[in-house]
Amino acid sequence: MSINTVLNDLKYLCPVLRLKVIYMQEQIKLLSLPMAVFETGRTRERQEYIMKQRFTRTLQSKHLFSIADNILSLAVDFVYYDDKGWSWDYEKHKHEYETLGMIGKKEGLVWGGNWDTFKDYPHLQLTQADIDIYNKYFKEG
Ligand SMILES: [Zn+2]
Repeated sequence: MSINTVLNDLKYLCPVLRLKVIYMQEQIKLLSLPMAVFETGRTRERQEYIMKQRFTRTLQSKHLFSIADNILSLAVDFVYYDDKGWSWDYEKHKHEYETLGMIGKKEGLVWGGNWDTFKDYPHLQLTQADIDIYNKYFKEG
């Protein structure tokens, strides 16, 4: 697996988040919103790589997963997608990113667009309360 490989399979998401993402995808489809899952899980190597590229500010990402260590991603990135491809341009697609945030919040997720210090509009993650529930009741081993 290359550090350039972007993984978007929902199997890398912890089951609690996976269910919420499936509900989100249904709402996105109903609204014909041009948003799609761009990235689910990240290997530690890839996280280190994108930190060097300054696409992230942390090595403690909620996207980290490791099948060997039984760790699944607690975060997902949805990105604007149309026939021209992917677009991270929030100003250009403000309505779509704001709607994405609204749908995510309706599913009880934390939206990176609400963060004060570093706005991460494509990013959604489980609340700490849901992470605690996942760790207590869902995580095996
Ligand atoms: Zn993210």
